[in-house]
Amino acid sequence: MKRILITGGAGFVGSHLSERLLHEGNEVICLDNYFTGSKKNIEHLMDNKYFELVRHDVINPYMIEVDEIYNMACPASPVHYQFNPIKTIKTSVMGAINMLGLAKRVGAKILQASTSEVYGDPAVHPQPETYWGNVNPIGLRSCYDEGKRCAETLFMDYHIQNDVKIKIIRIFNTYGPNMNPNDGRVVSNFIVQALKGENITIFGEGTQTRSFQYVDDLVEGTIRMMNSRDGFVGPVNIGNPTEFTMLELAEKIIKLTNSKSKLIHMPLPQDDPLQRKPVIDLAKKELNGWEPKVQLEEGLIKTISYFDTLLHANN
Ligand code: NAD
Ligand code: UDP
Repeated sequence: MKRILITGGAGFVGSHLSERLLHEGNEVICLDNYFTGSKKNIEHLMDNKYFELVRHDVINPYMIEVDEIYNMACPASPVHYQFNPIKTIKTSVMGAINMLGLAKRVGAKILQASTSEVYGDPAVHPQPETYWGNVNPIGLRSCYDEGKRCAETLFMDYHIQNDVKIKIIRIFNTYGPNMNPNDGRVVSNFIVQALKGENITIFGEGTQTRSFQYVDDLVEGTIRMMNSRDGFVGPVNIGNPTEFTMLELAEKIIKLTNSKSKLIHMPLPQDDPLQRKPVIDLAKKELNGWEPKVQLEEGLIKTISYFDTLLHANN
């Protein structure tokens, strides 16, 4: 049994990771300030005596004896991370410093949830880990993109300078149950709009692309990365390489929900990446042949069912 700390454990991804690691027989301490996460996501774990929930903000130091740390704390949706950009960058940078300091002190292995956003609006397509990215340092998305880039730098420097055992994953757009319905990300927006019969908001022409990964595939890749061979630190892309335009996504969701919603176009946000698709050869090679198993339609059906239940419960 390992003792594992998950920062951001009450969030969308953190809640799935908490559940999986508990079920594998570990002790899990979930640390969250509930900015975008919710106790609801983990309430079904509360009865488990090996699960602990702590209200804490990662911009402040936290002391605990653990074997592993998954550093997931950070708002991930553009709407939420742009709400208070200074806080977002503090969460990424000071959160990384505090968690790396803890890992160094107690000798824990630590995994960083980095992001495909480190590639910015990529000039190389699809994106391998060797691509350094095309990021605006002073735009609306910079608090998130540059915060995550700086966190990667801190992870590598603690590893090189202090021998801290690190792992870095770059997560591509992920969706599934436990997403916040007001999160503002495209999958949750389109599903909620379709279920309510509201207009589906396509930003720009809708020809921009993303590659959507179901949360179970991410959790599997994340745990495999934590358990990967010593000496492999990443960064490694964890994403589904099947690419869709936002128009294709909207059409799929309308079909699957049987919705009468109409598409409307809204302005494209500043610095919105035009295309995104991971190269996953490194993950396949280093993570025992890991690759996504859940294709978009199957994952959307599960996610639609989650939001349908949630919306009915709220009515
Ligand atoms: P989320 O917003 O649902 O979860 C983030 C969690 O972190 C929330 O529970 C929130 O309350 C908590 N949090 C935020 N600031 C905090 C702070 N200062 N102190 C303590 N807790 C704090 O987002 P998610 O989709 O679950 O993302 C989890 C991680 O994965 C994030 O680091 C995100 O950047 C990364 N990531 C996610 C995606 C994706 O598509 N979901 C893509 C790339 C990277
Ligand atoms: N998007 C959209 N309508 C929405 C929300 C998002 O067309 O209601 C677009 C957004 O402009 C972007 C893509 O969907 O091109 C993915 O947006 P999201 O916020 O989910 O993630 P990110 O841009 O961080 O990849």
